[in-house]
Amino acid sequence: MKTVRENKVSVNILQRFIWSNRCRLCAKVIPVNDTLCEDCKPDKIRIPESFFATKVYSAKTFDKSTSPFFYKSPVREGIHNLKYREFKRSAEYLAKEMIDVIERDFRDEEPDFITCVPMSKRRKKQKSYNQCDYLIRHIGKAFGMKTASDLIIKIKDTPTQVNLKHNERLTNLKGAFTVNKKYDIKGKTVLLCDDVITTGSTLSECSKALKKAGASRVICVTAAVNHNDN
Ligand SMILES: [Zn+2]
Repeated sequence: MKTVRENKVSVNILQRFIWSNRCRLCAKVIPVNDTLCEDCKPDKIRIPESFFATKVYSAKTFDKSTSPFFYKSPVREGIHNLKYREFKRSAEYLAKEMIDVIERDFRDEEPDFITCVPMSKRRKKQKSYNQCDYLIRHIGKAFGMKTASDLIIKIKDTPTQVNLKHNERLTNLKGAFTVNKKYDIKGKTVLLCDDVITTGSTLSECSKALKKAGASRVICVTAAVNHNDN
């Protein structure tokens, strides 16, 4: 049996572990006031402002897109930690960076809703959270925008896009999404969010569903751009 004193000690150790400050990307313990560790230097993979002016996604149905980073280390690790380990501090960091590029690139836009790419019912059963929900909560709050995480519904369970070519990705997702009828998005602008954009086929398919339901504009923001696969 443990004494009260001993119990207190173990609680303190536990609290120290839970509350210790961690690098927002690689999750390593860092000094209290720091945001990133010495090894995580994302400035090297920051996307220049000019990139999106020339970037073309074939078969895209959304109007504009932006993102702060290329999908490379250390942002890649940050996204993995958020996606697979529910490391929320990574969402906070990435969302802040996404907010900065939204302010820069979507200056003339006034979105009515912010939403994200949904998971299928089957995936929801395996994984209790959608990492993009954490991103849109921060972004929506920063802009005072209506956050509608259930605006898009995934009605078709599709295999992962990872190893598919661009055309295969489009076919794989065809008709996979629909808009939740509880929302009236006629004539509205939707800010659509995802963690990574590769060929743009997922965001295009979601955007197609939004426009079919009457949205006038769909603008997209992602935490990173996977440029090598394009
Ligand atoms: Zn780090």
